[in-house]
Order: sequence, then C-alpha cells, then structure tokens
Amino acid sequence: MNENNYNYIEIEEKWQKKWYEEKIYESKKQNKKKFFIHFAYPGVSGYLHVGHMRGFTYCDVIARYKKMTQNAVLFPAGFHASGIPSIGFAKKVERNDAITIKQLKEYGLKDTEIIKLKDPEEVVKYFGKVYVDDYWKKFGFLIDYSRTMSTISPGYKKFITWQFLKLKENDLLIQKPHFAPFCPNCGPVAVDKSETDIQKGGSAEIQEFTVIKFKMEDGTILPAATLRPETIFGVTNMWINPLVEYVKIIYQNEKWIISKQAYEKLKFQIPDFEKTAEKINGSNLIGKKCTIPMVNREVPVIAGEFADPNVATGVVMSVPAHAPYDWIALQESNEDIQAITIIDVKGYGENPAKEACEKLDIKNQSQTEQLDQATEEVYKKEFHTGYLNEKCGEYSGVKISDIKDQVKDKLISNNQAIIMREFSEEVICRCQEKVYIKIIPDQWFIKYSDSVLTEKSKNQIQKMNIYPQEYKDSLPSILDWFDDRACIRKGSWLGTQFPFKKDWTIEPISDSTLYPAYYIISKYVNEGKIKIEELTEDFFDFVFLQKGKAKDILWEEIRNDFQYWYPVDINLGGKEHKTVHFPVFIMNHVAIMPEEKRPKGIFVHWWVTQKGKEKISKSKGGAEHINEAASKYGVDAMRLYYSHVGSPFVDIEWDGEAVIKYKNRLANIYRTINQFNKLKDKKDKNLDNWLISITQKTIKKIIQAFEKYDLRIATNEIFFEFQKNIQWYIKRGGSNKEIIDDFKNIWLRLMTPITPHICEEIWEKDQNNGFISNEDYPEYQKDKISEKDEIGEYLIQEVTSDISEILKVTKIKAKNIFIYTSPSWKNEIYKKSIDQMTNNTFNVGNLIKEAIKDPDLKSKAKEISKYVGKLSGEIKKLNDADKQKYLINIDEKNYLENAQKYLEKIYGCKINIFSADDKDIYDPLNKKQYAQPLKPAIFIN
Ligand SMILES: [Zn+2]
Repeated sequence: MNENNYNYIEIEEKWQKKWYEEKIYESKKQNKKKFFIHFAYPGVSGYLHVGHMRGFTYCDVIARYKKMTQNAVLFPAGFHASGIPSIGFAKKVERNDAITIKQLKEYGLKDTEIIKLKDPEEVVKYFGKVYVDDYWKKFGFLIDYSRTMSTISPGYKKFITWQFLKLKENDLLIQKPHFAPFCPNCGPVAVDKSETDIQKGGSAEIQEFTVIKFKMEDGTILPAATLRPETIFGVTNMWINPLVEYVKIIYQNEKWIISKQAYEKLKFQIPDFEKTAEKINGSNLIGKKCTIPMVNREVPVIAGEFADPNVATGVVMSVPAHAPYDWIALQESNEDIQAITIIDVKGYGENPAKEACEKLDIKNQSQTEQLDQATEEVYKKEFHTGYLNEKCGEYSGVKISDIKDQVKDKLISNNQAIIMREFSEEVICRCQEKVYIKIIPDQWFIKYSDSVLTEKSKNQIQKMNIYPQEYKDSLPSILDWFDDRACIRKGSWLGTQFPFKKDWTIEPISDSTLYPAYYIISKYVNEGKIKIEELTEDFFDFVFLQKGKAKDILWEEIRNDFQYWYPVDINLGGKEHKTVHFPVFIMNHVAIMPEEKRPKGIFVHWWVTQKGKEKISKSKGGAEHINEAASKYGVDAMRLYYSHVGSPFVDIEWDGEAVIKYKNRLANIYRTINQFNKLKDKKDKNLDNWLISITQKTIKKIIQAFEKYDLRIATNEIFFEFQKNIQWYIKRGGSNKEIIDDFKNIWLRLMTPITPHICEEIWEKDQNNGFISNEDYPEYQKDKISEKDEIGEYLIQEVTSDISEILKVTKIKAKNIFIYTSPSWKNEIYKKSIDQMTNNTFNVGNLIKEAIKDPDLKSKAKEISKYVGKLSGEIKKLNDADKQKYLINIDEKNYLENAQKYLEKIYGCKINIFSADDKDIYDPLNKKQYAQPLKPAIFIN
C-alpha cells in the first residue's frame, strides 16, 4: 500500500476483524466508574438505511470516548421485534410482493433463503443478523455483542411477564372500555409518530364527533356528525350528496341512512349496528324534510356534492351563519334559505360566515384554501368572544368557550345523539389496509394517569441529564398530558402473552420500557449459564429489587452485575421517541425500579432527511443502503460526517457530496501525518512552545465539549482546528521531532472515538503496542500552556494576514516590508485600562495624568489624551480571551525577529523590523510620518 494512499476499505476491514477477534467490545466490571449507554433498539421491519446510522454512530462515539476516559463502559444492543412489522414483512414475502422480493434478491439472497422469510420469526432472525454483521459491526461499533437480544426471545418474554406482574402489584394496571386503532387484517395497531405499526398517519388523532339524529317524516333518521353540537340551533338545512349511494342501517330499532363508508367505520364502534340490503340513492333524499332534535324545527334536505361519504356519516347539517363552507354551498345552490345567526361575536355583524367569506373574496366552493382559513377565523373568534343568543333556548347567554359538552350531553341523554370516533387524517396499516377505530369493552391499560407516578417521574426528570435542554423543559408537561395506555392486543402479534388475559399480547410500546435491565441478564442467557425456566418472578425480584434469597451463587453474580451497571446513564434515540418511548421508559422505571436504579440520562437526536425535509423512508425511495454507502464513502468518513455535519438537535439533509468531502479530509489528514516522518529534526523554542500550548488549549475545549456530548464542537476542534495548527507549525518551519511525535500521538487518540479505523492503522505503523481504542484519552495539562508564545504566534499570524491583505489591495511587488511594533507606553496604558474597566475604576483623566508623570512621555501628552479618549469604546468590543491576551506583555520585536526568515521566504523580499519606541514611523511609499500604533504597523515599498 502506498503510504499516501488512504485505502479505507482495506483499513476498515482489517481493524474490525481484529477488534472482534480480540473481543475488545466486551464490557467488564472494573474497579472504576461505570457508564451504561444504549440506543433505542430498532424495530425489525426490513433493511435500514443511512438515516438510521446517525444515532447509532453518536452512541458508539460517546461509548468509545467514555471507554478512553477511565470508564468501564456497557454498550449493548438488541432488536425490537414485537408487534407486527416482521409479520407484515413475512406476509409480503408470502404474497410474493415484487418490491420486497427484488430487495431481497439485490441483497444477495437465494430463492431458498427468501422462502424461509415467510415465517416472521425467520424474518427477525435474518434481519437481526443483518443489523449486527452488516450495519453495526461494519461501522466499527464496540457494542457488547455477547448481550445481543430480541424482544421475542423466551428469556425476554419472561422478563416482560415479570414487568407486568410488578405493574399489577403496584396497582398500575386497570381495565376499562377503549376505542383503539384497528386493522381488519392485523388487529390492533399503534398510531403514533414512531409509525412502528403503520405506513401513514402517525400524527392522526382520534376526534369525537357528535352524531345528531335528524328525523325524517317517515321516522327514518339522517344522522349528521359535527364537532360543534351547540350550532344545532342555527341549522337551516341538511346536505346530502346526490351522486352517492347511501345504505340503510338498523340500530336499536331505528332506521338510519348513512354512507357505506360510514357503516364500514361505525360497525367497529357500535357492535349492534346492522346493515340492511337496502340502498338509497342520494338524489332520492333531496327535497325531503327532517326535524332538528331539541329545536323541533323542520328543515329541507338539499343537494350538496361536497358532502363527502368518507367523512363521518356522509350526512352534513348546514349552519350557514357560522360555517363558511355551508354559507358558500348555500349561495351556489340557489335555494331560498335564510341563514340563522345564533352566536353574537365581537368583530362580526349579522352573519360571521358570510362576512369572513367576503373578506377573503370567496366566491365558490373550490376555494378550499381560503375556506379553511375563513372557517378557522370564525371558529377562533366565536370560541374566544362569542355568546349563544336568544335563539338557543336554555343556553342563551352562555359563552362558547364555556359550553363544552353541555349540548352534546343533553342530546345523548335524550337519545338524540351518539358519539362517533374518527381519525383526523387517514391512517394506513403496514399491510396497506385502512386503519379503523374499534371498541374494546374491557381493555387493559397501564395507568400512566396515576398522579403519584406522574409526580415521582417529574421529580426524576429534574435529576436527569437530558439533551437537548428544551426537551428536558418540555418533558414534565408531556408526562402531565400522558394518558393511560392500552397495553395489550389480540391478533397475530409477536410479543409476550399478557399474564392476566389469555390469548392477548403485550403491545410493543409497553414491552420496551425497562428493557435495558434485561441486557444484564441476556449475557447469561446467551452463554447458556442460566436456563429460561429459572427466570422466575423470584429471580427477577432478587436481581432487580433485592428481594428474597439467592438460589445459588449465579444469582448473586447476576445481581452484582446489575448493582454495578445499573442505572442507564444515557438512553439515546431519535426525536420520534420524545412523546412516547422516553416518557414510558422513565415512568416504568419509576413505577418498578428502586430509586437509585432509575435512568440518569436521555439524549435525543434529530433525523436525517431527504431533500424536501421528509424523514428518509425506504418506502418513499431514495435512501442509500448502509453497506453500499460504507464501501462508497468509507465508514470513518461517514462517522465523521454524522458527528460534524450538524448539531445533533437539528435535522440534516442526507448529502453524499458532503460525505465525500469528509472522506477527502481524512485522506488529507492521512497524508499530513505521513509527511511528519520526512521532517528534519530542528528546534525553534517559541514556535515549539506555541504548538504544545495551543494543543493543550484545544484538548481542553474538546473535553469540555465531549462532557456535554457536544460532538459537533469536539469534532470540529479535532479534525479542523488541529489540522490547521499543525499545518501552520510546519509552514512556519516547525520541525521538532519529539514535539511532532507527541502531537501525533495526542491527535490520533483524540480522533479515535470518531474515526477509529484510520487511527488504529497509523498507530500500528508507528510501532505502538495494542489497540489505540484501548488507550487513554489525552488529558488537559495546564503546565504546558505558554500564553506568551501563543500571543507571539498570534501576532505573527496577524502580521502575515495584514501583509497579504496590503499586497492584495495595492498590487505592489514588494522589495521591502517595514514592520513597526507598538510602543511600550501604549501597551502599558492599554493593560491598565483593561484592568480598571474590569474593576470598574476606569477614569480617562486619571489615566492621562498618570501616564504623563513619566518624563519620557511628557512630550506625547496630546497623542496620549487622544488615544485614551478612544480606549473605552475599543476595549468594550474585546471578548475575555482577547482581553487576557493584552494583559500579557510580550516582546513583540523579538517574536517578529524569530519569524523574520519565514516572512522573507513567503514574501520573497527583505523584512525590516523596528520598535516604535526607538524609531519614528515612516511610510516610504507615501512619504508620510505616522502616529505610534497599538498593533504592528506595516509599510511596503
Ligand atoms: Zn394491517
């Protein structure tokens, strides 16, 4: 291998092989601090993509950093296989889904291997292996692979059973009716932002419509659904879509007419809903009359093609004075119907809906965007400032914001309405089927609404390290809002059987809350040291709760492990977990685990998005495969990309071009380091001290950033500032072998958590023993700081950049460059001023008086007072670091003279250096005399 050729594929394979053969990933109890970190384990739903690697990489970088800074680290991982994702995948294989089969073949699977994946358990096994071998190991993660587990393994199921026994024991399991998202193929599904079970609609909420029974002359009911039942007093007509075929339903001896789609939904919510064979064309209902319940006024049924059979019951009540849609539809219908105003509201006159439409120039129903806007405006104003008027009977005078459920409850108790639940947006299951809402009369819940549990959990949050801070701030209100969660489902599900109801399975959010504790056990299970039958309630009580007696010495050993490693120091996961997983992770620990075993930290990272700010999703295409990306860019380059490209707390857009830039930077660092060996050994005290000092300063910054998990800042210092510094040192002629060797040693160790492979390679080439991954992280050494040399070198950098700027602007081919350093009196006054300003004793008059006491400066009184006058403004602009610099006195002339050769070399001309103390300042080009400068003055001819 050419020493300048950065052959990352060879390097990465070589070191992974060595790490895994020597098992340097294994966590060992040691006589030092421990650090337990894990990521929210991925669901098993298919191949992952580059977006998933962001969080995993953060976890490994932090784990490696902790390992190198005197911690015994436990970094385990597993797979969340419960629920339906892998069942969905198996079903796709079974029905020969073209995209799925193509994917599997492209990944290199043979037909015989593909057939096996009709079995969901095989799907879990297969992807479990892909995640470990092709993702985690390929990225060089030092996960403790001896603890890998899946949530459908027999041991894990014993653990989850125990969790539910404890919840019951603590009165945190309750039973009540429940309306649950439900797929006709798969059974109950979870609808939440993590979209574990579903393909679409993670943000959908369950809305409660009041379905009001409008009776027609023949007694048949037209049930209209509304979110604002109090507007019933303003109904002027009903809308029926003449193009839609409606169906007739028998419900508690009543005949109802609703859309077919409404029946499909309601049959899951109302068990005694019965469809008749009779179909009714919408057009046949037009012209009929029906009576408004409670109001007892008759209104006509008129044609409205906008009445969507997919929304609620497909029958719409019309309130044209308060609903802009109804108002415009009525205008377009040419019916002679008067709007009825029932709400008095500030800012509107007789007809709020009409006025809002006119204001936005709405002329027809197709202007949906403006209509939505008008609707929102009217609703908002009415809600905050509206009162029901005299047309509303017993409710007249009631504020809209106070009416709440009064009208609804009255209608229901009169048997004039029922409740219908509907998603706020369409929800589609992973199996492609529409998700409905279904009643479960005796559902089991985990009682997260329990006020003691909520309070204790909120207290726990205060003690935790939670990143970012904004998430920590918002968590208490998330817990307040967090309601009881239905925790079991019936259907074909992978997971643990619920111990208190036969044939029901614990759902996936509820079986992934305490799981880091199981990583302590999984090692013993994997190694066959403990039998599944032995994982009893007594066993878990003993290990986790310190209850009862050890059956044997092994139980003691496992408990000691738990005592050592627990609690979790960081649970790291994507932002989709903010409102569901992290809250239940905290609350279950608080509910079950002893106080000192509750979580200590959470780290939330944002997503990798595709162009257009969408979360990368394989179903939407466009994401790169992990193993392809790994060979295209190199793993170290990708790790560097994730760590540096943006703050963990913003979404980043996946950008292959950017990863290539990081790859080039690594190649460049590789060449830079190889070039060190060719340097001749030569000392330069000021410059050498500068490199040592600036290196230590940077280490300090890096460690501070790492301790706050600010990977971006740490990475920037390591991969950008460090390289800039060594490049400057070499360019300046720095060539001290011992110092460069030290620098290299430090730099490599600093880089290791982020780009471990390339570091191992160079480490080995330098004939070091062992793995750099097992070395200690550099520590900040205060005694190596040399402020004077740092300021001296800073001066030279400034002078260089000033000279270059002058040459660029004047375009002169310089023969001579004259540099005048600032006079000592100015430095003295400057220092004094900073001092006085810091102590709030700054006084212009005193400063001047004091300065001219010096006989040498008497003649400069005018210049001094002018200078001092401007000082306070100038100093206020300085930051603390700059102030610090000016407080340290250096011999500027001496430093510049040391750099004279360097300056002459780069500018190719004579450099003349003077002190302003000794010589008047003269610009030979403009033939002018100048006042003494504070920083070096530069002239050229
Ligand atoms: Zn389904």
